[in-house]
Amino acid sequence: VIHLGQPEHSVVTTCAYCGVGCAFKAEMKGSEVVRMVPYKDGQANRGHSCVKGRFAWGYATHADRIMKPMIRSKITDPWQEVTWDEAINHAASEFRRLQGQYGRDSIGGITSSRCTNEETYLVQKLIRAAFGTNNVDTCARVCHSPTGYGLKQTLGESAGTQTFDSVMQADVVVVMGANPSAGHPVFASRLKRRLRQGAKLIVIDPRQIELVSSPHVKASYHLQVRPGTNAAILTSLAHVIVTEGLVDEAYVAERCDTKSFNEWRAFVSREENSPEAMADVTGVAADLVRGAARLYATGGNAAIYYGLGVTEHSQGSTSVMGIANLAMATGNVGREGVGVNPLRGQNNVQGSCDMGSFPHELPGYRHVSDATVRAQFEAAWGVTIQPEPGLRIPNMFEAALGGSFKGLYCQGEDIVQSDPNTQHVAAALSAMECIVVQDLFLNETAKYAHVFLPGSSFLEKDGTFTNAERRISPVRKVMAPRTGKADWEVTVALSNALGYPMNYTHPREIMAEIAALTPTFSGVSYEKLDALGSIQWPCNEAAPSGTPIMHIDRFVRGKGKFMPTQYIATDEKVTRKFPLLLTTGRILSQYNVGAQTRRTPNVMWHDEDVLEIHPHDAEERGVREGDWVGIASRAGETVLRATVTERVQPGVVYTTFHFPESGANVITTDNSDWATNCPEYKVTAVQVTPVAQP
Ligand code: SF4
Repeated sequence: VIHLGQPEHSVVTTCAYCGVGCAFKAEMKGSEVVRMVPYKDGQANRGHSCVKGRFAWGYATHADRIMKPMIRSKITDPWQEVTWDEAINHAASEFRRLQGQYGRDSIGGITSSRCTNEETYLVQKLIRAAFGTNNVDTCARVCHSPTGYGLKQTLGESAGTQTFDSVMQADVVVVMGANPSAGHPVFASRLKRRLRQGAKLIVIDPRQIELVSSPHVKASYHLQVRPGTNAAILTSLAHVIVTEGLVDEAYVAERCDTKSFNEWRAFVSREENSPEAMADVTGVAADLVRGAARLYATGGNAAIYYGLGVTEHSQGSTSVMGIANLAMATGNVGREGVGVNPLRGQNNVQGSCDMGSFPHELPGYRHVSDATVRAQFEAAWGVTIQPEPGLRIPNMFEAALGGSFKGLYCQGEDIVQSDPNTQHVAAALSAMECIVVQDLFLNETAKYAHVFLPGSSFLEKDGTFTNAERRISPVRKVMAPRTGKADWEVTVALSNALGYPMNYTHPREIMAEIAALTPTFSGVSYEKLDALGSIQWPCNEAAPSGTPIMHIDRFVRGKGKFMPTQYIATDEKVTRKFPLLLTTGRILSQYNVGAQTRRTPNVMWHDEDVLEIHPHDAEERGVREGDWVGIASRAGETVLRATVTERVQPGVVYTTFHFPESGANVITTDNSDWATNCPEYKVTAVQVTPVAQP
């Protein structure tokens, strides 16, 4: 039911879906939301919104919400409702039992990119200070961890370089491995506006996304790469730029590290990296690559926007660095209209990474091995912090299967549905003795849990989210927590029960602590957020109102560093048994695993994931529009309905992953990025065969 009625008051807050971070006025009647109105002064959205955000309150009051804490001894037992104190004391005593029995590092936690900065900061603090281990990771592991790594190596900061508004100064825009029309609709509208004004577009994607050819927008080039060959296409673009004399030599000489540039130049110049030599690998005609490279290098201000189609590969980090190399070589970093811009999938992916949710980094991307940084946190927190990195999510699974990892605190993340190779995840969770899930709903992961702590929606708490342009925006409480506690209060209670007291009374105190301990946040406060509306970090003494464009006079790391981008084929090869490559993406009306959007009344309902298959491949298999097909990979099998379309090339199939029953991750494999373990969701060799309706 979509509520309609006259609002009595309103609260300005931030959308909890994608990384655009639109501001909304939640209009209220008593304690009920009447409607969500895009906020005209919202600095990320400027009065616009998409269909998801417009209706983003229905799930908060959905009947599926779990309102009471629950415990059970075995996962085959029925859940038993208990009080908050009983559930939290039980979880704490189980975690302490496991540490006593199996050692300090036998437990860990996962933070959520959907929770606020303050909440993710608290979870990593709880893991490091109360658990005493660095076994903390974030769901950004499975999406943009290569962005964090790749941009830090090349530019010196694990974040995008621009504001969204900057696209209005771009003359050439590259969209690579992203589908903004579906994933980041409000940014897509702004991009289309710029394209209608005459900016040129280059799309690099295995699929014909909407931007390639829509009624008002046509891409100048669509490099329809074979899945898994991004590093090859980026290297061949670089080959053209270097060998055709299109490098911005003055910029590189002034701004970049000469040694790394010379090595990179020598490498990409090799004939084996030319578009002609790479065409068999990438599947893209050499003349298209040459044309796109010339346009990018000579067309004026050139900006690159990329998404999970870049990061979720075995060479995800390589490709992120390849993008940064192109931008530096052509002088396209450090002013309006240019830059390297990761389109973050979830509302607070940027923030969860900023807040120290990685096992090797404390807040502000500072390595745990740095004794000076550790000393700062140790003094503030009154504990000893371990100097060695902890376990990443996939390492936690391996350790669980090996018998050394026994307990997990998982806040706001459905790892069973969203991590690859579901069977492997399920086996790892089954091997643990205590799993504590904190979520709005009994999600797929909760099937393996022993303690369930009810979560709170973004409408029920104060805090901040940080969007894809590093913009910290206020999240304001619209209604009281329906379960009695906001997520940050649950973490505080758990920490207290573990014997590590946390005494916060409001998230503003948590932000004050973040600011005191994190140089890029040192100027951030709730008062300033109220005054300015939002703030793009770094916000400190040097930039008291924040930093819209980064790396203006110099790179954060000093000189920009070129990194090698040698293409290495993924292990996930097509064979006679698995002759097609499956890749995945999103649709406009659903959000990620759909836990929220599937429970939200919406005007554009999309009720199943389907498999896109090219007419040629469909005909070969006797598959017609709407038929049910089995999809088998080396990891597993699932069944979907097929749609026959030329949006995908022959040899490539595509699906979305919004519904648990479609089992997209039953078939994805364990392959992952060499640097960060980000799963290779985007390349799975499969066979497709017609089946009877399940
Ligand atoms: Fe804005 Fe993204 Fe929310 Fe849509 S889903 S309203 S684009 S933040």
